[in-house]
Amino acid sequence: MPSTGLKTKDAILNTLASRHEPFREIINRFGLLLCRQVELHSELPLADVSAMSVAEDRFLGGEALVVGMDSGAFAPALKASAIRIWPVMGVLFPALAEGLGGLGRKLEEDRQWTRLCLMAVVHGDEAALDRAAAEAAVTPDFLLMALRAAYGPCIAAQKQALLSLAPADLWRKSYCPVCGSDPDLATLENHPNPSDFLISKSGELWHHCPVCTHRWRFMRMTCPGCGNQEHENMTRFSLPDSPHEYIHVCEECSQYLPCLDLVERSEPIDFDLAALGLVHLDAVAQSKGYVPLSPAPWTALGLATPVAKAS
Ligand SMILES: [Zn+2]
Ligand SMILES: [Zn+2]
Repeated sequence: MPSTGLKTKDAILNTLASRHEPFREIINRFGLLLCRQVELHSELPLADVSAMSVAEDRFLGGEALVVGMDSGAFAPALKASAIRIWPVMGVLFPALAEGLGGLGRKLEEDRQWTRLCLMAVVHGDEAALDRAAAEAAVTPDFLLMALRAAYGPCIAAQKQALLSLAPADLWRKSYCPVCGSDPDLATLENHPNPSDFLISKSGELWHHCPVCTHRWRFMRMTCPGCGNQEHENMTRFSLPDSPHEYIHVCEECSQYLPCLDLVERSEPIDFDLAALGLVHLDAVAQSKGYVPLSPAPWTALGLATPVAKAS
């Protein structure tokens, strides 16, 4: 399992939980969910994208790769993933178990409903989400959270095949070039070019996608939520003992993104778990009235009420 080549995910979660004792429950529960999702990446059936082509100008204009796919192509993977992920969520969050059980049965029995769910989660079709939620007698927010948790491993499994169709290195939008999701984490990193004499000490800015796990480069000093570049309207705050972990806030749109400065760091980092390790900063940002850009479930559920209701 170790994607970092160093510590196992269990060891990393233990370290995070003991560093942030008040958030131990959140870190342990969502950490376990993240681990189960990562395990599925290599096990899910893939959609055939061999006949798909991507128009470079539309891609570089901001159209994520998944836009060109038929959302229905994810049906086998979504079912296989939901069967594994939703019961885990039901154990971790008992208040959700009944609602998730109902969704699982509908996914098995109702192809038309499954189709609506895929339109909602793959292409962000809000009318389809509302209809699917009404048919299942749950709230759209709950349905979307459940669908995202099951869809994440599906699009993560499909990621390499999609990336091979486009010049992904040239993508500079704030959202993910594969699935179109907003990031859950920005990192400052050194990517020294062997031909450069001098290595920039300030680093490059990279974004991480919490849905498909892709990472891509973004512009520094730009709000990923609204594109604001006014220096004086961007605030940064951190705790005194760990200034390399901080929150970037935009006063224009009130959205925030957790950030990690890795420029001075030499040991590898597990990007699957990195944003969850900053949950204490999410709590500070939300207590100040800022809104998370990240669609990660622990931010979407609201840190004041870690367990949402299904209906
Ligand atoms: Zn993505
Ligand atoms: Zn903004």
